[in-house]
Amino acid sequence: MRKYIFWLAFMAVAVSAAAQQVPSPEQFLGYPLGSRFTPHYQVVNYCKAVAAARPDMVKTEKYGETYEHRELMVAYVGLPAQLQQLEEIRLNNLRMAGRLKDKAADTTGLPAVVWLSYNVHGNEPSSSEAAMQTLYALVNPDNKQTKQWLEHTLVVIDPCLNPDGRDRYVNWFNSMVGKRYNANPEAREHDEPWPGGRSNHYNFDLNRDWAWQTQQESQYRVTLYNRWLPQVHVDFHEQGYNDPYYFAPAAEPFHEAITPWQRDFQVLIGRNNASYFDREGWLYFTHERFDLFYPSYGDTYPMYNGSIGMTFEQGGHSRGGLAVVKRDGDTLTLTDRVAHHYTTGLSTIEVSAGQHKKLLSEFKRFFDNGNAGKNAVYKTYVLTANTPGQLAGVKKLLQLHGIQYGVLNNKTFRGWNYFTGKDESFKDEGVHLAISAYQPQGNMLKVLFEPVSALSDSVTYDITAWSIPYVYNVKGYAVKERLAVENTPPATDTAFKPVNSAYGLLIPYNSLTGAKVLASLLSNKVKVRFSRLPFSFKGREYARGTLIVLKGGNIPEWNTVTNNVCRRFNLQPEAVETGFVDKGADFGSSDIGFIHAPKVAVLTGEQTSSLGAGEVWGFFDQVLDYPVTLLNAADLADINLKHIDVLILPDGYYRALNDKEVNNKLKTFVREGGKIIAMEGAVSKLADGEWGIKSKEEEEKEGDKKDDYANLRKFSNRERDWMPNAIPGAIFKVEMDDTHPLAYGYGSDYYTLKQDPTVYNFLKDGWNVGVLKKESYVSGFVGSKLKPKIKDGLVFGVQDMGRGSVVYLADDPLFRHFWEGGKLLFSNAVFLVGQ
Ligand SMILES: [Zn+2]
Repeated sequence: MRKYIFWLAFMAVAVSAAAQQVPSPEQFLGYPLGSRFTPHYQVVNYCKAVAAARPDMVKTEKYGETYEHRELMVAYVGLPAQLQQLEEIRLNNLRMAGRLKDKAADTTGLPAVVWLSYNVHGNEPSSSEAAMQTLYALVNPDNKQTKQWLEHTLVVIDPCLNPDGRDRYVNWFNSMVGKRYNANPEAREHDEPWPGGRSNHYNFDLNRDWAWQTQQESQYRVTLYNRWLPQVHVDFHEQGYNDPYYFAPAAEPFHEAITPWQRDFQVLIGRNNASYFDREGWLYFTHERFDLFYPSYGDTYPMYNGSIGMTFEQGGHSRGGLAVVKRDGDTLTLTDRVAHHYTTGLSTIEVSAGQHKKLLSEFKRFFDNGNAGKNAVYKTYVLTANTPGQLAGVKKLLQLHGIQYGVLNNKTFRGWNYFTGKDESFKDEGVHLAISAYQPQGNMLKVLFEPVSALSDSVTYDITAWSIPYVYNVKGYAVKERLAVENTPPATDTAFKPVNSAYGLLIPYNSLTGAKVLASLLSNKVKVRFSRLPFSFKGREYARGTLIVLKGGNIPEWNTVTNNVCRRFNLQPEAVETGFVDKGADFGSSDIGFIHAPKVAVLTGEQTSSLGAGEVWGFFDQVLDYPVTLLNAADLADINLKHIDVLILPDGYYRALNDKEVNNKLKTFVREGGKIIAMEGAVSKLADGEWGIKSKEEEEKEGDKKDDYANLRKFSNRERDWMPNAIPGAIFKVEMDDTHPLAYGYGSDYYTLKQDPTVYNFLKDGWNVGVLKKESYVSGFVGSKLKPKIKDGLVFGVQDMGRGSVVYLADDPLFRHFWEGGKLLFSNAVFLVGQ
């Protein structure tokens, strides 16, 4: 017995000694960092092993999972005293940001929070390896320096923001490489196949999704981010393997919402990083290429939320492998890449520790200024629509950003009308919502709503216009006067009331919600009709597109199912007891269309844009929850199209369409009753063939004198020479024929994001549903040479052919899934056109 007790005591000592032993990455993984790519689950396991060894210094938290069910997690790292007050540090951040008002915020006594985000692009994989090394350096008892820094910082490590993309790359690479890596850049291990590991499961770029959060990974992560609101955020990336390292300060343009302190701190970080790189003789560059403007990146989103947001870029993404020979003959190894990211991560923590008091006070000032309405040109924004459903998307976005909104009691005022571009008196369309600029999130509000985003320089990396009324296609006013807004709690929409009818139900169809209801009803085998004419019934007006569910010929439980579906999407139906309307077409009329539930297929794979194909796939799978078949574009010649009603060609270059036989096959498919929806590049490919659509030829205007000197360009201007011909993403007003089913649910205008200058000739033999007329430019950067050309042409059109039709969508209505206003248009193309 004594022996047994002794043995127990011995075990207890042994276990506690083991618990103190922090494993290095090499000890845990069994290989030195940089010698192999670590699969995601092992990155997670390593973080957990460190937390198990030092629970007083590291706490891990699972904050969600990916579409492919991989774990999303963070590790909180601090000295034991700080880890004990983790919750107090978090709450204090919310107090400084004006989101919690239980007591005054402490701006001196607590550490600054530094958040390090790794591997948002899956095929930029050195960063998750560096995350493990950074975590070890912070916890390793032999490293005294990091313990000094942790006196004043709490570090949050997210080792992998995009586990599905990372594993797609890592699994592919590991299956390509032999016993020894091959550093020859031509070797197959440096040539990733479609769609590559950059994006998430649905091919979305998660580093364009911070503000919109259309993807699950972003929703989980940004929710956690907003529970913390760190003072410093670094997003670790990789770029082409020939490029040296890039770190802050960022490039122009800076959005004017970014404060002098945020700019200054970036310089401090840059100088400190440089001192380490100089010591090692490593190359780097700063303030070039990566700007701070579009609000949905891992640097700008934190910036507009009071943090110092930064992007760090190592060379080596996608093609770097374990080693690759660069243009200068030098070999870049994964080990080098890990070392560089590790160095800048620790350097950031060092600078933040030295500046922690200033970080906290400036962070608080950022939100105090927002609350005081500082820098707000417009003091109130007001949106208005016919039905609550049309405002539902905007409300959701405001809630995501912690932006308060409410209603006006006095609706007599003048403001700048987004849709007319003029100062006008407010016209209430039926429902409205109002947002005051005087609130802690005033800066983010300004970024999202200001009519014209202010650029401090014109060369930017991304789209230049995203003002919310255009994105959501909702009428709105920017008001210079401070109106009294009565802030209401988020869930005040009128409650759903089930309705019973022995004859039929009417459902409004003027927003994405209507399309979701339609898709769900069709999936549930409910028979749905729609009106091609406006009608009035019992004194109420109903627009074209109104959905009609009738008892006649329907499934027995049609009433219950329809109510259930409408309740799920909070869309109120109305009961009718007769098919005899007051004005318009009776429900038995031929002007009432019947919607056959279409069998939909999408071309994907090589020859299509992975982002474009992913947007369509994700839209059916995640947004509409409607079945879709994915086909490989390369197999087009051999695919049997018999069991398909709608074939979607997302953006792509479609080599397959060089073949006349393939074109004939698709034309036969259409003539026999099929429908093709061609998007962006696919439209341009059809325009090169014999399909009845043609892009506008570049007309040389009469009077344009040939200028021999026009070709004289200054070498030093070469980086800006492309600007006159650039259109990174600007908003144009499209005039819609709202009597055509493609435009049902819209008014006479639609706001499109043009990302390329192509416009098409008006269809001679088809429906010109969405066209650009003379003065259609609204907002965003368009090069001086392009601006005069983008007019007098077709953007959205329908061509009837035999028993079927072809829908041309030259601009992308599903762009990054945040262009909310386009989703109904796309749904119309799928469900209503040609019915
Ligand atoms: Zn990247």
